[in-house]
Amino acid sequence: MAFDTIGEVRNPADTSEIVGTYPIQGPADVDVAVEAAGKAQRDWASRPAVERAEVVLAAAERIDGIDGLDELLIREQGKVGWEASFEVGFFEATASFYAELAPGLDEGEKLVDDGMGVLRLFQEPIGIVGAITPWNFPFAISAVKVIPALIAGNAILVKPASFTPLTVIRGFEAIADLFPPGLLTVLTGSGATVGRRLVEHPAVRKIALTGSIETGRDAAAVAGQTLKSLTLELGGNDAALILDDAVIDENLCGSLVGAAFTNTGQVCFGIKRVYAPAALAQAVADGMAAILDEYVVGNGLEPGVCMGPLNNRAQRDYVAELVADAEAAGGKVRYCGELAADPERGWFLRPTIVTGLDDSARLVREEQFGPALPVLAYDSLDDAIERVNDSEFGLASSIWCTDEDRAAQLARRIQAGTTFVNNHGVFALDLRGPFGGVKQSGLGRELGVDGLRAYTESHVVSTRHL
Ligand code: NAD
Repeated sequence: MAFDTIGEVRNPADTSEIVGTYPIQGPADVDVAVEAAGKAQRDWASRPAVERAEVVLAAAERIDGIDGLDELLIREQGKVGWEASFEVGFFEATASFYAELAPGLDEGEKLVDDGMGVLRLFQEPIGIVGAITPWNFPFAISAVKVIPALIAGNAILVKPASFTPLTVIRGFEAIADLFPPGLLTVLTGSGATVGRRLVEHPAVRKIALTGSIETGRDAAAVAGQTLKSLTLELGGNDAALILDDAVIDENLCGSLVGAAFTNTGQVCFGIKRVYAPAALAQAVADGMAAILDEYVVGNGLEPGVCMGPLNNRAQRDYVAELVADAEAAGGKVRYCGELAADPERGWFLRPTIVTGLDDSARLVREEQFGPALPVLAYDSLDDAIERVNDSEFGLASSIWCTDEDRAAQLARRIQAGTTFVNNHGVFALDLRGPFGGVKQSGLGRELGVDGLRAYTESHVVSTRHL
């Protein structure tokens, strides 16, 4: 292959290491893959959903047995060990969840059965799906699209981000032979060419994209030309709202830290801003900082490291810029933990807590997607809720308190796809609940029953009695 058709993936913890390479494909490769997908999908869709689910479960078992997949994920993405194992294990958990829903696809649903006739509803496959995924959870976010799409009877073409294509390539290539040839294909290359062609292609009938708001808007505009179905999981600026009856102890501060700093803060539904009553804000910041002071930042393959680098230089520089801006705006910046790696070799930042800001600071308004967290003080709860909602984002959110009933009522006032109570972030995700954003955070839902329906078209069979 010629030099310019190969892309390199570098280890964000040590950029001198080339972790692997991937083909830089182009629009013509997309067209070939779409044609093969079309043929494979007809055969696949003719099988009962329960049979399709069995094949997907066999795929999950095979993925579980791939040696070193989590290590590859650490080396290409920058995760630490448990984060990578959790992510690889997500395939199996998601496959088991959706497999349970497969019988419902075969049986359909009887909506009406009266003297006049019978109305039945079936969920049919859409056809060919394009999945476009980001670099923060390359494997899990691809799995959450691939699994329901396949069980629902579709073909799927996956385009991972160019920073992190290797785990997806290795994992999905290892299972591709379980399916009709061409049913599950990984396409690699830039978003502007390969991603764009997938969105443009008239035979691709659905796009499921996770990424930035800008990319989501572009995809929506292009997909509009061929009236495709769309699921968009875009950015977030999740607020954690602490109520005045919360007990600020190690348990609460540890949960906040976990929900904000897991995956080095690169979680779409991680905590990105904390609102605490003015009398408690300092205690919250101090409690979190005390926990973060124990953090060792470095290469996820090294023992004792609990936070890895940012995935790429642009993201590291962006987060550093937001922290510098916060400091210039009068914020008190507290760098925590210890860096156990050469900052010249990787995209490292220490976990950082910032206090004393108002909501106009960029660190509060923008999606930092990194390990720097503003802790903000509020005087009245009504005002705090207004500030939480004063954002173009609306992915997730959380309320922390002792009175759960009060929290459940307040939750309804927050503009978000999910409001967790005394919980937040990746550990809080329940596969049974539909997940997605409001406002600019996205369109549609993944997971839950909605997540399977998102890969189907409703088909009503209306029978009139003679
Ligand atoms: P990105 O938008 O730059 O890229 C996402 C994917 O889209 C990549 O595969 C990219 O190659 C592709 N792409 C880029 N331009 C395209 C185009 N014009 N047409 C088609 N495809 C195109 O996002 P990123 O920087 O990789 O990821 C970070 C963002 O993703 C953050 O904003 C984060 O919040 C968001 N995210 C959201 C969720 C969620 O579930 N809501 C989950 C993870 C990440």
